[in-house]
Amino acid sequence: MNTPVPYLGNPQKTIEVLQKYKFVFQKRYGQNFLIDTHVLDKIISSAQITKDDFVVEIGPGIGTMTQYLASSARQVAAIEIDKALIPILEDTLGEYENVEIINEDVLKVDLRRLAEEKNQGRPVKVVANLPYYITTPIIMGLFEKHVPLESITIMVQKEVADRMRVGPGTKDYGALSLAVQYYAEPLLVANVPPNCFMPRPRVGSAVIRLNRYEKPPVEVKNEAGMFALIRAAFNQRRKTLLNSLSNSQELSFTKEELAEALEKLGWPQGIRGEALTLEEFAALNNVLEGK
Ligand code: SAM
Repeated sequence: MNTPVPYLGNPQKTIEVLQKYKFVFQKRYGQNFLIDTHVLDKIISSAQITKDDFVVEIGPGIGTMTQYLASSARQVAAIEIDKALIPILEDTLGEYENVEIINEDVLKVDLRRLAEEKNQGRPVKVVANLPYYITTPIIMGLFEKHVPLESITIMVQKEVADRMRVGPGTKDYGALSLAVQYYAEPLLVANVPPNCFMPRPRVGSAVIRLNRYEKPPVEVKNEAGMFALIRAAFNQRRKTLLNSLSNSQELSFTKEELAEALEKLGWPQGIRGEALTLEEFAALNNVLEGK
């Protein structure tokens, strides 16, 4: 079979397709379609897709990036919530025999099972220009539900890309930074201005690649327990760690137990959670679990 050549990814073709189907943009679905071939090339090359790969695309829109993915991968599963886009996708992807369109909410799809069925449980690559209103639940779902992953290459809001990459001492540092850095190595691929999309988003965007670690960079006795500490610490980030953790509904440590743990670790009693690195949250969990 001759691989078809992607033809979407520019304003004229995008407008043509939208008009042909009288498509109306749904704001609630975060629909900003890519209209820049340089950005598409950059995403595809940084995702390092080969003919062996099974790729999951979240939110294919009118199929612009899907055409590129299908040209490089063995198989693509494209999950789109908006049923108005399905006839469009059937048209724009009609010539590609290696694409399956799934009309579902990605948060309700069992991606682990999909990888099991379509890729024999081997790690998949996720590539997406994400709908920004659910970026965090999508990323956390991929990690926490233990979907077999090799990498995630995604377009996100610039500010979210910053949050994923920073450490303590900046205002962007928080629970998302720690979760991402526990599971993956984040690499900034490119900053992308609003004029590369139709319609233009109000915020700047960035492509980020998350390379899944085979083994997390820290050893922790109770993974869920450490994430509960992280959530509690950042829920009340201006409070001391002692107060935010002892106030938390999710945790059951007394103030005395927590104070004792801080002492064991040699940390000041007035320390704030936002000052702790991933290694330090792991150390705190290990001391608290070791009681
Ligand atoms: N990939 C296309 C592109 O780059 O031109 C579209 C990207 S657009 C930013 C996000 C896409 O995700 C839209 O097509 C939107 O309908 C879809 N979407 C929004 N929420 C979704 C959800 N919960 N599950 C699956 N797709 C969703």
